[in-house]
Amino acid sequence: MKTIGLLGGMSWESSQTYYRELNLRINHELGGLHSAQLVMINVDFAPIEQLMVAGNWIAISEILIKHCIQLQDSGADFIVIATNTMHKLAPAIEAAIQIPLLHIADAVGQSQVIKPLKTVGLLGTAFTMEEDFYSSRLKSQYGLDTLIPDDHQRLMVNQVIFDELCKGQFNTHSKQQYLKVINDLSQQGAQAIVLACTEIGLLVQQDDTDVTLIDATEEHIIMAVQQALV
Ligand code: GLU
Repeated sequence: MKTIGLLGGMSWESSQTYYRELNLRINHELGGLHSAQLVMINVDFAPIEQLMVAGNWIAISEILIKHCIQLQDSGADFIVIATNTMHKLAPAIEAAIQIPLLHIADAVGQSQVIKPLKTVGLLGTAFTMEEDFYSSRLKSQYGLDTLIPDDHQRLMVNQVIFDELCKGQFNTHSKQQYLKVINDLSQQGAQAIVLACTEIGLLVQQDDTDVTLIDATEEHIIMAVQQALV
């Protein structure tokens, strides 16, 4: 089995999902007492979030690169960064390490569910929804068009992520607001909604809606397990 290098803490709420699901899925594949072989670094998210607000992505990339190199030096065979937004920095990180980075947008694009689809809705942080590092990868590599919520809804989706979900708060009202956004995107032509923030799956699940959901976290974990067992 290969060693997974897991960079978490952004936020730690969703890193728990990665740690638990990687172990559960490896055990499901191999049985017995098998569990994931991994090294993990969990960052302190508060200073990183301040750098995000300040727009200091160079400083964030220096922090993430330092930790990815630490994972590599600790024996990781590949890197999994447990957040969608930080894949904005994927090119700089990839250039600084010698092992593969499993890009979360590739996990989404290669999902069996998404293959027959042409248009998907994208829910995530403002960075993920509004910048093109995620949507352009889905378009150029997988031919997928993306729809995003309107200005007002994007603000709400982003605020709920940072003010509630990253703090482990899961409110019924926010869930209803998210389900309305999901429904609106579906009405606008999205054939499925990509939950492109690792905490959204903690608030909204497939049982809550008839609209098809593709949870980037789950797809990323599946990709990591496949890579670990190659
Ligand atoms: N975990 C979130 C994501 O998947 C948001 C927090 C962050 O900016 O890393 O994008």
